[in-house]
This record gives sequence, C-alpha cells and structure tokens, in this order.
Amino acid sequence: MPDDISLSLKAQLALQKAGFDYTRSLGQNFLFDEELLEKIAALGGADEGVNVLEIGPGAGLLTAVMAKRKANVLAVEVDRSLESVLGSVLSDMRNVKIVFADALKTDLGALVRETFASDDYVICANLPYYITADFLIKAVTAEPLARSITLMLQKEAAQRVLSKPGEEGWCALSALVSFYCEGETLLDVPRSAFTPVPHVDSALIRLTPKCERVVPDALSRRFTGFIKSAFAMRRKTLQNNISSSYNIPKERIAQALTSAGKDPKTRGEALTLEELGRVFLTLKEIYEQTDGKEGKT
Ligand code: SAM
Repeated sequence: MPDDISLSLKAQLALQKAGFDYTRSLGQNFLFDEELLEKIAALGGADEGVNVLEIGPGAGLLTAVMAKRKANVLAVEVDRSLESVLGSVLSDMRNVKIVFADALKTDLGALVRETFASDDYVICANLPYYITADFLIKAVTAEPLARSITLMLQKEAAQRVLSKPGEEGWCALSALVSFYCEGETLLDVPRSAFTPVPHVDSALIRLTPKCERVVPDALSRRFTGFIKSAFAMRRKTLQNNISSSYNIPKERIAQALTSAGKDPKTRGEALTLEELGRVFLTLKEIYEQTDGKEGKT
C-alpha cells in the first residue's frame, strides 16, 4: 500500500481487502475521522512515552493516532478477523503491541505489567458498548489501577455512570465507579461519526482515581460487594437487600443503620456514597463475625 495516503483511507482499503463484515454483537462501530481521533487521543493523555491500554482497536485507527503521538500502545482485540487489517494499518509502528483476547477474560493489570514493565498507564478506548458495565468494574478495580480511564460510551450509559446520588441514574455502577474515581464528560459525539451508524449518540468520559476513598483501601473489595448488595433489588429496602445477601438478621442491620443516622426503611439508592460507606463501616464487625463474606453479586 502506498505510504502517502491518509490513515483513514489506508484502514478502509485494508478492511475492504480483508472482506471485513462489521459484527453488531461485538459493538463494532468504527471511527474514521482523524481529527476526532486526534482529539480523543489527546484527551486520553496518549502523549509521548505514556503507556496506553486500548480495548478493541478495530481497524487500528485510534491505535495508530496514539502511536504517532509516540505513546506506547497495548491494544486488546477479541476479533481475530481484524488481524490482517491491523497488521497493515500498524505495519510501520514499533510502539504498538496487539493482543488477540477477550478483554473481559484477561488479567489486564498483569498484561500491562508484563508489556510495559511498569505500573504506570492510562486507558483510552472507543469501547464496544455491550461490555460497558463489566469493563468499567474491571478497570476501576484493576491492579495496578490506571492513572486515567478515557472511554467512549453510549451517551445514556455515560450519563448513568456519572450520575450523582439523588439523580435517576444513581445505581450500583455509578456508586461503584464514584467510590474509586472522579468522573467527567469530555465530549459529546454524534452517532453520525461512527461506521456503521449506531442507533444512539455517544460521549467521551474520563475517570480519574480518587486519592481518598470513603472506606480504607484494605476494605475496598468488600465495600464493592456491599454496594452491589445494597442496590441488588431496587424495590427492596437496604435492610432487606443486605440481610438476604449476607444472611444477617434484619434487626442487627436496622441497628447499624440507625447508629449511622439512617432510617432502617431506607432504600440503597437513597444513600450517598459517604452514607453507604458509613453504614458499611458500622456493619464491618458483623461481616467479620460471618467469615467476612463479600455479599452475593
Ligand atoms: N477502536 C476502533 C475505533 O475507534 O474505530 C474500534 C472500536 S469498536 C466500538 C469496538 C471494538 O472492540 C471492535 O473492534 C470489537 O471487535 C472489539 N471488541 C468487542 N468485544 C471485545 C472484547 N470483549 N475484548 C476486546 N475487544 C472487543
């Protein structure tokens, strides 16, 4: 392929040559607008010498843009039929490693450490939409944790993930994400920017790890289990949800809620993250008495 054609054209020709068919169930909506991709790479912090983990490189355009900015890119792609396309688009780029695997089934922290010999990295990706919730949980609880997580999500999903207590979207996922990270919306991206055009618009968000969390680091895993339990059944009270998840008598939970300043009939979604933290910390002794279970998730 000639060297002087645009990256975007190079990718489209490579896709054509490979006879590539977009698979909807894999969330394959690609971006070919190089100006937009530059913006995403810049907002994602893909700068010279920065280690970047990308999920789903697709035809490799965002990957190539980040590599041209001299970032070191590790990209995990599940679809092997993109191998020749990625090989062609990224052929002359040494600072790129592609791993063909399911990102949800991969120990991403270990892969990052093995690839970069460092714990310092950022995540920047145009995420396949169907893995949004699972990937977010994986990313914010990863060891090592990324310095920043910049993701293109469906607009509604982005709003839900970043929703605050008292808002309609406040749910286990937003509570969990906000336990680990601060979040912000960086860009709104219309559906017309993607090929094929999806049914919904998108938004680019950035999550940045919090320095201080509402419960001590050593209890983080248990607290994430507690959050999932607290929101498990939206119509049930927090007391009922926690009681059935942890098999603890309701009266004891009512007592803990009261001593944390909450009404025992409160629902999980009515609590702020700080309040959830306070209730959890009050209940900690009870968890220890019951073998420190992390709750059903
Ligand atoms: N980065 C490209 C772009 O911006 O044009 C493609 C983004 S497309 C929205 C999502 C990509 O994620 C697709 O290439 C798809 O094959 C890949 N993918 C889907 N599920 C995946 C998974 N579980 N693990 C890794 N990659 C996945």
